[in-house]
Amino acid sequence: MGLLEKCSRYTRAREVQASGFYPYFIPIEASYDTEVVIGGKRKIMVGSNNYLGLTHHPYVLEKAKDALYRYGSGCTGSRFLNGTLDIHVELEEKLAELMGTESALVFSTGYQTNLGVISTLVGRGDHLFLDKLNHASIVDGASLVYGTVHRYAHGDLRALERQLQAVPDTAHKLVVTDGVFSMEGDIVDLPALSALAERYGAEVMVDDAHSIGVLGPDGAGTASHFGMRDKVLLTMGTFSKSFASIGGVVAGPEPILHYLRHHARSLIFSASMPPSAVATVLAALEVMQAEPERRENLWRLTRRMQEGLKSLGFDIGGSETPIIPVVIGEMEDTFVMWKSLFDAGVFTNPVMPPAVPESQCRLRISMMATHTDDQIDAVLEAFATVGRAIAVI
Ligand code: PMP
Repeated sequence: MGLLEKCSRYTRAREVQASGFYPYFIPIEASYDTEVVIGGKRKIMVGSNNYLGLTHHPYVLEKAKDALYRYGSGCTGSRFLNGTLDIHVELEEKLAELMGTESALVFSTGYQTNLGVISTLVGRGDHLFLDKLNHASIVDGASLVYGTVHRYAHGDLRALERQLQAVPDTAHKLVVTDGVFSMEGDIVDLPALSALAERYGAEVMVDDAHSIGVLGPDGAGTASHFGMRDKVLLTMGTFSKSFASIGGVVAGPEPILHYLRHHARSLIFSASMPPSAVATVLAALEVMQAEPERRENLWRLTRRMQEGLKSLGFDIGGSETPIIPVVIGEMEDTFVMWKSLFDAGVFTNPVMPPAVPESQCRLRISMMATHTDDQIDAVLEAFATVGRAIAVI
């Protein structure tokens, strides 16, 4: 069978497209922070990862524009060769300071950060332990390692303990976990996980993609939230969420980062973050630190939305953060619910198998610090009307 035939046999997405309920690759024509224009109509955006609402902040835009004109539109090379700017280095210094680590290293995306860090550090004879709900970039990083990969059911630390026990004491062991799980919105039990890791001589890496800017008194992420920065060896983050841009970072001890600088293939063989993106993140970091009320507002609005959905009778799983999954159930109901909300002016993200089990399809809401109370009322009203109409509440 040729590739053309093989790909043509994939019909699932075309069937959904033909049904009129296809929710993917929808072009946004304009974006106004918490609202977007699609097909000439404004929709309230509750499907972004723009937690602090900084993509349209005037200071952030100004700084991005300045960098665009000072350094040009792209770096046209890897960090390793011609693609390191002084602002990449400045950003690394500022992020290390935020995370309370010796050093930090900036990659072009969060995906590449996980890929590069995990595949470089876990070698032959080493053992890697992953929560089954960890992000795909961690799973893909694990697929590149020469060591042994163990996966435990979500949050099942007893299973993790059994796996740790079965590995020789002398082996190098790394546990990698999401800080906030991206489809569930729950927070890892870091105190218990790190105590376990310590008992069995394992090291811990936390993916703080959804935690930086959101968790911790200064927005420094999961370890800071639990007051246990010294228990986490490496923290990775992304700039595609709270930091309103694109790029990724790993923070930790300098010797490890020095090793990664010279061995991580996704760093060395890919062009570096463009100047305007670096300047955006630097400015977003400044605004985040100068305006802590943004994070406070994010949490206030999150609680309002969580309570509102629960009181309407929706199942929001174990959401503890601005990520709020609304579990609908079967795929068909979820597509219908998504489309009805979309037509009513609310943009959510549908999450389907294999990301979740068949009967656990959901709409994923994520909150922004800049949502208004009126927008929350409108979203809740739409959920109530649509949910009743299709009898999911
Ligand atoms: N880790 C987690 C938990 C994520 O949710 C994401 C992005 N969805 C990434 C890593 C990858 O980040 P990026 O978008 O920067 O590639």
